[in-house]
Amino acid sequence: MRKIVVKFGGSNLKTAADVRRSAAVAAAYGRPLAIVVSAFSGVTDSLVRSLEDAISSLEAIDECIARLRAMHEEVLYSHVAAGTERNQVSALLSFRLVSLDKLLRGVHYIGAVPDFVRDAVLSYGERLSSPVVAAVLRDAGLDVAEALPEDIGLVTDGRFGNASADLGRCRPLIAAALGAERSFVVPGFYGIGDDGKTTVFGRGGSDYTAAVLARCLDAESLDLWKDVDGFLSCDPRVAPDSRTIPRLSYAEAAELSYFGAKILHPRTVEPLEDRGIPVRIMDVERFDGRVEPASVIGPAVLSAGSLIRSVTYSDDVGILRLRGPGVGVKPGILAGLTTALDNHGVNIKSIITAQTSINLLLPRG
Ligand code: ASP
Ligand code: MG
Repeated sequence: MRKIVVKFGGSNLKTAADVRRSAAVAAAYGRPLAIVVSAFSGVTDSLVRSLEDAISSLEAIDECIARLRAMHEEVLYSHVAAGTERNQVSALLSFRLVSLDKLLRGVHYIGAVPDFVRDAVLSYGERLSSPVVAAVLRDAGLDVAEALPEDIGLVTDGRFGNASADLGRCRPLIAAALGAERSFVVPGFYGIGDDGKTTVFGRGGSDYTAAVLARCLDAESLDLWKDVDGFLSCDPRVAPDSRTIPRLSYAEAAELSYFGAKILHPRTVEPLEDRGIPVRIMDVERFDGRVEPASVIGPAVLSAGSLIRSVTYSDDVGILRLRGPGVGVKPGILAGLTTALDNHGVNIKSIITAQTSINLLLPRG
């Protein structure tokens, strides 16, 4: 049977009760799944802060480790009764927390955060959530094992902070590793470069992990569980009368998320589009024991009625304007400019050229 890839985001993993509900959702499928988990809500942000604090303070490191231990043990202890399973998962958490502690101490003693250490540290949100979620799922009766990206062949191009999966190499490895007729929990957000180093897929990257698995497993669908009412016509915090869009094309979803819609990592549809694997946005608030999508992203459909599907915005934009006579007609200017930016690792979001100026939209940072 083709697998379904199911992803639970941080918003599905806020409290112990949320984790239990996610287990009920997974059980409702009644079939083996590949389950990708994000970090528990807020954990990746707190790891970002810990990296900064670690430089100046060893106490901050101790506090970070203690806080993460308490948070994950609380979820584990509220759902898994005392016994061998709980002890094993506790020991695994301790083991991983020791590794994280070492990385943060390294940052303290060298007084800097090398790229490879940053990515390794950020991946710990998922490395800690996944054994806990797997244990709660087992407690709910599912036959499930944890499968780490480094063990299943989730190979990347090695770019720190914004890696891409090497789909050609991943496919046979992941198909073999996750093909069995049972469920697997995979921590999202990171893969492994050729040198064995952890590389993350950019913030919100668990969606992309899930998409890569769906592609490699030729999944029936990729189901992203969220706590919002599907893909909406606008950010509901800005426009309270926003509506759910039942169907979107891959291109529509990719462009909307590229230009700011937070619901999806912008690269999620990339591995799926040519295989026609649908992305289903599921609203956990609607869950009543049945698995029903709120929105489905798939091959283009002719939309009856509204031409504009959704409106989005981003304030992560800086404008670099270069003025000069006739820049709009002189060949080669853009090539020189984009090469210079590329040499410094600056990605360009969009370019608008005119007769007297070239305007580049760049990420603010
Ligand atoms: N935990 C990572 C983040 O917060 C990845 C994810 O949640 O998808 O960006
Ligand atoms: Mg997230």
